[in-house]
Amino acid sequence: MLLEKTKEILSKLVSFEVLGSQSNLSIADFIGDYLKNKGVDFQFVENEEKDKKLIHCRIGPAVDGGVILSAHTDVVPVKGQDWHTEPFVLTEKDGKLYARGSCDMKGFIACCLASIEKFQQANLQKPVYFAFSYDEEVGCLQGYNMALAVKNFYKEKPKFAIIGEATMMSPVVGQKGICVLKTTVFGSAGHSSRIKQEVSAIHVAAKLVVWLENKMNELVERGETDDRFTPNHTSIHVGQFNGGIAPNVISDKCTFYWDVRIIPKSSLEEILNEFDAYCKELEKELQTRFAGAKIITEEDHPPVPPLDTPEHLEIVPLIQKISGNTELKTVAYAAEAGQFALAGFESVICGPGDIAQAHRANEFLSIDQMEKCLEMMENLAFELGK
Ligand SMILES: [Zn+2]
Repeated sequence: MLLEKTKEILSKLVSFEVLGSQSNLSIADFIGDYLKNKGVDFQFVENEEKDKKLIHCRIGPAVDGGVILSAHTDVVPVKGQDWHTEPFVLTEKDGKLYARGSCDMKGFIACCLASIEKFQQANLQKPVYFAFSYDEEVGCLQGYNMALAVKNFYKEKPKFAIIGEATMMSPVVGQKGICVLKTTVFGSAGHSSRIKQEVSAIHVAAKLVVWLENKMNELVERGETDDRFTPNHTSIHVGQFNGGIAPNVISDKCTFYWDVRIIPKSSLEEILNEFDAYCKELEKELQTRFAGAKIITEEDHPPVPPLDTPEHLEIVPLIQKISGNTELKTVAYAAEAGQFALAGFESVICGPGDIAQAHRANEFLSIDQMEKCLEMMENLAFELGK
């Protein structure tokens, strides 16, 4: 029975303890073998170190207009979490399947793999593609490469991408983008009494933090809001701030990390350019006191673009039809959908499970959600077989 088979695949998938940034060869090879057994031609795209690989394949004819089903193979750590079951062993209890990654997002991969025969038997007129990435949990690092790998490998043009992150099978057409930055201020050390003569890196960094908060408020005040999201504005937040060695020593170095979670209508470029201009101006002024004064900002990881799929695109009625859910939603978490959209595919997020379960102890996927996802796969096979 299909459900039992899907559970079996999922129990195998969750047994691979592949955390974000770690080698994913074990799970990639398992998926590769599975595809091979089903007679599906597939491609690995290895990284330079050859310790990680993307996987993609096509089922159905090489014609334009196909649908990509995408997921990531990595999971977040379980360290320090209070698990009541073995995190890397699938445990069924009261209609729920417990394991790290059951919900985020190996459940979706299991549904894809379990549905291969359905796709093969559906006499597809348009193809379906699987695209499985890695290093998503450490900043969606391969989402864009994954999208490009599919786009560049196949001669025909796939049109749609469904990213199966947990949405309780609701179609998601909007997602905030995110960018994480690291700013370092270099000042001059000295006796604290000389604060007017030296450049305190901490004092300068504090000014920059205030500037960032003011910038966020200015965006809200000028009406840059989007009520589809909670909160409904672009947020700018400093989460880590380090500098100084003693109360009576002027600090010569201060570093802080900040993130921008951006709604589709805000411009990340604008925020970064304005911040940069302010830093340059400040730097000039500081250099009159200390020639070595400097402010350097770098990306802690590359920006993940927001997703903003307009309702008039064809993907919208398609996902509504196959998921059985018409209400369109947005999410605040980062996913690879914005990157697929950036690569030119009409993209949505829609997958089994509740994101509230993700990243915490006792993560689970309900069997009911697994069944709904399998239904979506069957509906997709039917639509593509028309
Ligand atoms: Zn995920």
